[in-house]
Amino acid sequence: MKTKIGVIAIQGDVAEHVIALEKALVGSGEKGEVVKIKQRGIVGACDAIVIPGGESTTIGRLIEREGILPELKGAANAEKPILGTCAGLVLLANEGDEEVVKTKQPLLGLMDVKVKRNAFGRQRESFETLLKLTIFETPFHAVFIRAPAIIQASDDVTVLATFDGHIVAAKQRNTIALSFHPELTEDRRIHHYFLDLVNKLCR
Ligand code: GLN
Repeated sequence: MKTKIGVIAIQGDVAEHVIALEKALVGSGEKGEVVKIKQRGIVGACDAIVIPGGESTTIGRLIEREGILPELKGAANAEKPILGTCAGLVLLANEGDEEVVKTKQPLLGLMDVKVKRNAFGRQRESFETLLKLTIFETPFHAVFIRAPAIIQASDDVTVLATFDGHIVAAKQRNTIALSFHPELTEDRRIHHYFLDLVNKLCR
């Protein structure tokens, strides 16, 4: 079976995720394709979805306007794996901080977490660190860019990594959320982990 991964291609780190996923597919010897999702009608044909980093207000409003938002909820309900990175993490949350409330940005509400936008403040707007994730033996080179963080999570959420007292990687059922950008480094472990989840849930 050929795996079809869709990357929400409204704004942000789209090309980087497409390349990272293609490399991960080649690396794991799997047959698969990666498609960009710019309009409604494509999500349903995908086995899994990536929501990239970018500007969560813009991505949220446009997926709502284009009718992609309810399709993503449908995909999640159908147990399709969804990976949200940075702005994608914001969109996966079911609750936001006052900044999210103020901008009235639409959220998908697919994870029982409260998210804080730009959680690391001005001093640390962008930074890189070696992050310990529970799913890997060695640290992951994590790139944070005006990153959000999870400030509350229900018991159904598995914490995969914390940094500076905040949750920066988490998983709930078929959904994975990361504060950082795994597509911006050459370490493909996150994308392989995601493909493994796709294989487990979609076969
Ligand atoms: N701060 C951005 C937001 O909340 C996310 C930044 C990013 O994706 N690099 O939309």
